[in-house]
Amino acid sequence: MSRVLIIGAGGVGNVVARKAARLPEVFSDIMLASRTLEKCEQIARDIGGDRVKTAKVDADNVPELVNLINKFKPDMVVNVALPYQDLTIMDACLETRTHYLDTANYEPRDVAKFEYSWQWAYHDRFRDAGIMAILGCGFDPGVTGVFTAYAAKHYFDEIHTLDIVDCNAGDHGKAFATNFNPEINIREITQNGRYWEDGKWVETRPLEIHRQIDYPGIGERESYLLYHEELESLVKNFPSLKRARFWMTFGKQYITYLNVLQDVGMTSIKPVNFKGVDIVPLEFLKAVLPEPSSLGEGYKGQTSIGCQIKGVKDGKKRTYYVWNNSDHAEAYRDVKAQAVSFTTGVPAMIGAMMGLTGKWTGKGVFNVEEFDPDPFMKKLPEFGLPWHERIDEPLPVEKYCI
Ligand code: NDP
Repeated sequence: MSRVLIIGAGGVGNVVARKAARLPEVFSDIMLASRTLEKCEQIARDIGGDRVKTAKVDADNVPELVNLINKFKPDMVVNVALPYQDLTIMDACLETRTHYLDTANYEPRDVAKFEYSWQWAYHDRFRDAGIMAILGCGFDPGVTGVFTAYAAKHYFDEIHTLDIVDCNAGDHGKAFATNFNPEINIREITQNGRYWEDGKWVETRPLEIHRQIDYPGIGERESYLLYHEELESLVKNFPSLKRARFWMTFGKQYITYLNVLQDVGMTSIKPVNFKGVDIVPLEFLKAVLPEPSSLGEGYKGQTSIGCQIKGVKDGKKRTYYVWNNSDHAEAYRDVKAQAVSFTTGVPAMIGAMMGLTGKWTGKGVFNVEEFDPDPFMKKLPEFGLPWHERIDEPLPVEKYCI
């Protein structure tokens, strides 16, 4: 029996609230709070049964957050607002001694840069306050870290290479839309790529490296090497890794639109003056693009996200591939969301459950791969994310190059 405060009523927040509401034995009291109260109320109404209370909160404002936490008294705050709010919400959790969980690492608004340093710097203060922060508990980051920890625990003595592969083979029928918050998504993709090799980061131009990768049940798709935040914590927590990379698929049409938007300056985060008002082009672009939570209806096709790992076990070379495929239409039937929100919201709910039921414990700030992966892996299929594995078979990421 515990109380959870979910902050952010977007695509992911909707999934966390719906899934948590079905589990009164774990989440006895739920509050959904966000910047726009009507979005919280709409979700709460849809869920029904007076299961979800709602509130308006500006999560950039620490006193407002502290006030809300003191009134509702949650055992844990699940932050599924935007990465910009991570530190203010962590500050409020510290002040009120409340556990914290999020799905994306902190990013300052005015620099398109994300890294864990800002949040890891809270470790001692969280430890001294006797509370736990679970960082990056969506799918990637999130399940990909748990998959890696599971592989290391059960199949390897040492892991040497890790390729995280993320495919969205779905079709939402829109000319151009992003599957999670457009601003955060476009900031991530337009940055330089980066991967870990032989103890150092190797930088690439944005989307410079790409190749076909075969995804189970989907087929070959062009996949682009990106820098993704879990690489930072995974190479720290698995120091035997000699190489770690992240790949994501994009269709030709998506890349063409993105290039045009970039070329005309619409993805810039530098303010421009328009009719006497300073506006950030990327923020304006977000305002005219479809909201991720609106893409669910009619979205067809699947996602496939997994980890392809090489290493050694009992002195012999070993390969391991573990993945989940999710179906957009099935996700919509279950929680009125597309599969990207679904595959993020379900792990966030399971992570909250791990913390609140004492399966994951600790005082301080932790990435998901630092906890026991087994109870989390057990829950994934129960809540709609079945996973599959292949042992000692050729890895699809290596078909066209090593
Ligand atoms: P959305 O844009 O759909 O939702 C974000 C929500 O946060 C909106 O409802 C927004 O309010 C609210 N919000 C924004 N700023 C504030 C604020 N200052 N105070 C209160 N509420 C605020 O995004 P998604 O649901 O797609 O993504 C949510 C999070 O999940 C993001 O951090 C994203 O990076 C992360 N994510 C993680 C993934 C993973 O696998 N780890 C994958 C996908 C997403 P309003 O409605 O008023 O705009």
